[in-house]
Amino acid sequence: MIAYQRPQAPPEFSRNPTKDKLWKKIEKTRDDIRIAVDYQSNQYPESKDFSDHWTNYKHLFEEAQGRGKCIYCESRITGSAYGAVEHYRPKAGLTKFMNRGNRDDLRNQLPKRKFLKQGKPGYWWLAYDWNNWLYSCDRCNSTWKGNQFPVIKQGEHMPMFSTHWTPAEGAERQEKPLLLNPFNTNPSPHFRFDEVGNILPKSMEGWQTIEVCGLDRKKLVRERFLVASAIMRQIDAYIIAASDNHLELEKASLKELLALCKDSASFAGMARDLLKGYAELDYVDLLHLEKDGLI
Ligand SMILES: [Zn+2]
Repeated sequence: MIAYQRPQAPPEFSRNPTKDKLWKKIEKTRDDIRIAVDYQSNQYPESKDFSDHWTNYKHLFEEAQGRGKCIYCESRITGSAYGAVEHYRPKAGLTKFMNRGNRDDLRNQLPKRKFLKQGKPGYWWLAYDWNNWLYSCDRCNSTWKGNQFPVIKQGEHMPMFSTHWTPAEGAERQEKPLLLNPFNTNPSPHFRFDEVGNILPKSMEGWQTIEVCGLDRKKLVRERFLVASAIMRQIDAYIIAASDNHLELEKASLKELLALCKDSASFAGMARDLLKGYAELDYVDLLHLEKDGLI
């Protein structure tokens, strides 16, 4: 995971009133949802009641996330799949699982988790909120995250609707999410990686994010292993070149390392962490060297 700049909301999101046709449809859906919500009698809209207006904006999130990478796992999506606009805070319900689920997906096995609690409502009022949208791969979004959204509220873990707490408008201002959102927080300090592609948490948020999105699933570790191997080879080449005072080879290695760390590179978060851990170099230092024409 790496930090990204959230794409700027199109003008219709800030204009009021507006003649934009799509925006009018969004407003109509918002009104319908609001009418359908009834906390007194426990009636809430179904997932199908939330018309999909977000896919119209998917390309903006794709572009902002390293030109087509999943916000959570950093796999490149766009060449082989469509990916989806994902709701950071679930719109139509909330789920808590009682077990971690199966991480071995090498034969496409499913997580097979048991529900501890699931139900309604979700954060229905944020369904069309620009700041609640992200672009994600199918595995992270549909197979793993689903309607999970662990938070801390008033010092307690409230990972679900409960008898103490039912999400209502404004709830998001009184809680601390445990799922990292790279548009809001720099996720880098929350994880570390090893040279064979394993991901390990460095914080409560890091741990919860790995759990919720299945970031330690085996196929993903195998993909990261390929990139980790390339990084480790370049780090070795850099260290040998530096110790031999071979400036040209040193520059060439740093240039390769920089390419593996850029926003558009798959698993750039891991690349930057390995670079720091094994070569004691910061990604931003490499950017400066490039800017100054030194690599
Ligand atoms: Zn993903």
